[in-house]
Amino acid sequence: MAKKKVKVIKINVDECNGCRACEAACSAFHAEPKYSTVNPAKSRIHVYWDPIRNIYVPVYGGPYVPAECLGRDKYIIDGKEYDECLFCRAAACPSRNLFKDPDTNLPLRCDMCESEPPLEEPVCVQVCLVDALTYEEREEEVEEEVKVDELEMGLEALIDKYGLDKVSDTLARISISKKAEEQRRGE
Ligand code: SF4
Ligand code: SF4
Repeated sequence: MAKKKVKVIKINVDECNGCRACEAACSAFHAEPKYSTVNPAKSRIHVYWDPIRNIYVPVYGGPYVPAECLGRDKYIIDGKEYDECLFCRAAACPSRNLFKDPDTNLPLRCDMCESEPPLEEPVCVQVCLVDALTYEEREEEVEEEVKVDELEMGLEALIDKYGLDKVSDTLARISISKKAEEQRRGE
């Protein structure tokens, strides 16, 4: 068994006022270069609004899923039934258009703002002035796991979209042209 630091963001829906600062901050933090643009469509957190009850529900982008799930969850809050997929965290599920980068169509998954040096708190928590989002860390014993990083997740999404052969051919072509470019620069 290994020890793992578990990062938790607690969401208090009762406190959320729908300001969407978390969406803006997340998209800016993950922009290239960092903080160069703000585009909530590229955020890894989305805040849903129910106009009838006037409640806001922040939802984080979870793991990438290549296939639509067979079951559906139903949420009933204060007696009102909510859309089956509304609060699902699955990044880039093929049945809907959420948590996908609008430019590249690649999945957007919350990475807890991992960066070097590490942040004390994720940026969405920092900008939430009403404490609808609060951050905690704890240690847990876990089975050793194979880490699927963002690069692997992105490649998997491209393979699902274009097929393994096309992605492999494209990578091979880019690799040859990059090596040739490096050789030219070294001459
Ligand atoms: S920053 Fe906080 S209050 Fe504003 S939308 Fe996000 S969670 Fe809600
Ligand atoms: S923890 Fe970081 S990556 Fe995750 S939603 Fe908040 S700002 Fe975005």
